[in-house]
Amino acid sequence: MEPIIIANWKMHKSQDETRAFIEALKPLLGSKKAWIAPPFTAIQEAVKAAQNAKIVIGAQNMHDAPQGAFTGQISSSMLKALGAQFVLIGHSECRHVFCESEDLIHRKLVRALEEKITPVLCIGEKLEERETDQTADVLRRQLTSALEGISDLQDLIVAYEPVWAIGTGKVASPEMAQEAHMICRKILAELSSEKIAAKIPILYGGSVNPKNIAGLLAQPDIEGALVGGASLDVNSYSQLIRTP
Ligand code: PEP
Repeated sequence: MEPIIIANWKMHKSQDETRAFIEALKPLLGSKKAWIAPPFTAIQEAVKAAQNAKIVIGAQNMHDAPQGAFTGQISSSMLKALGAQFVLIGHSECRHVFCESEDLIHRKLVRALEEKITPVLCIGEKLEERETDQTADVLRRQLTSALEGISDLQDLIVAYEPVWAIGTGKVASPEMAQEAHMICRKILAELSSEKIAAKIPILYGGSVNPKNIAGLLAQPDIEGALVGGASLDVNSYSQLIRTP
């Protein structure tokens, strides 16, 4: 399976910058596929620019309700109408900066599946949790609470993102990441079946760049990467995509 390399642009890039990035990316793609999550304001522009190219556009977050009095929020159907095909759920900045609870993350995941937008469920431990040997427990708790009661996990992507590695320049070693991915796969198998768990792509996120991606993708349980900083520059992002 071709690795899935998702660009998470966070609060960067205007509509013009988005269009220019995608136009510059097209000739650099070769036969590979790009996955980009621009800010909400640039999704429509990105979808337009990505037409006829192997570029999938998604969103960075969504609300869990279909509609209603939720000032400043965006629903899954609004994203779908713009052409978004996937959505990040439970990104560490949403969990830890914007205080999204595990229950809210579960509700968002259910809503995304109902809407048929592929959820990219982001999980990962904080530094103090790793240092006190709680990584496996945190991954189990986050996966179990998010996926509780969901019988069909076929259209799910998981991103393991240790919080201490996001935007810090401190990447997990390939062996460390592989160990965490293996734990996630085992928990996913318990929640569904080994057959389904084997097919769920588990991406690594946290200070991925063109120099360290090959070692990560060489691991048997790492099927791609979720990339922040290094996805903002088209040359760096296209290098990531073209890494065999
Ligand atoms: C992210 O935002 O999900 C991320 C992994 O960021 P960075 O690549 O900058 O660490």
